[in-house]
Amino acid sequence: MSGFLPDHDRAEIRVSPNFGPRRDGARPDMILIHYTGMESSESAESWLCDPVSEVSAHYLVHEDGRIVQMVRETDRAWHAGRGSWRGKTDINSCSVGIEVANPGHAYGYPDFPDVQIEAVIALCQGIVARHAILPERVLAHSDTAPGRKIDPGEKFPWPRLAAAGIGHWTEPAPIGGGRFLAEGDRGAPVEALQSMLAVYGYGVDISGTFDATTRTVVEAFQRHFRPARIDGVADRSTIETLHRLLSGLSGGVD
Ligand SMILES: [Zn+2]
Repeated sequence: MSGFLPDHDRAEIRVSPNFGPRRDGARPDMILIHYTGMESSESAESWLCDPVSEVSAHYLVHEDGRIVQMVRETDRAWHAGRGSWRGKTDINSCSVGIEVANPGHAYGYPDFPDVQIEAVIALCQGIVARHAILPERVLAHSDTAPGRKIDPGEKFPWPRLAAAGIGHWTEPAPIGGGRFLAEGDRGAPVEALQSMLAVYGYGVDISGTFDATTRTVVEAFQRHFRPARIDGVADRSTIETLHRLLSGLSGGVD
């Protein structure tokens, strides 16, 4: 394919060969946000368009706010890899992937510039409108692949997106003392925690044992929703924040 009309009117086009059809007639009902994790955004752009990489995204948003579309929204880009959300494992078939240029934790993890975030917000507003995407389905890559991915990371400004009507957010409950659940614990309270995380969407078994997977899922939750402390310990603030989010689900729980 030599080119196509952008789905987002402010996007430049640079076609990536790394895409295919969405499987089983899936339509996009999720936005998945990443960071590029490469030293320069120009090299990230080349990599996402290189047939050797076998990765791509629908969009790349540069630090200066330039938006490049690489795959049509109707097609399946290759950005999510192994993961799950609400029991579904083919995240690429149900999502629109946005790579936000940032070198990531391996290269100092700088703040996201304002102009870049403004571009991400405008882009998401268009995608949400075109595909009727629910707020709770605007997610971090780390949400769908806990323990494997940490992008776009704890500096990504979810509250700013929420203020613009994008994504699901609640003010995190304050961090304090009190009881907590941590790796090695077992019993009904652990089962309740796992159930709440699973109902929200995270891929965690409801076993009643706070195992290593449960810890990585709690970390993923904290990285998105309670970024002040990411330690994999389900303290009262973490559980209360999760409660508040569950009671505010617009799509209901199923
Ligand atoms: Zn990613």
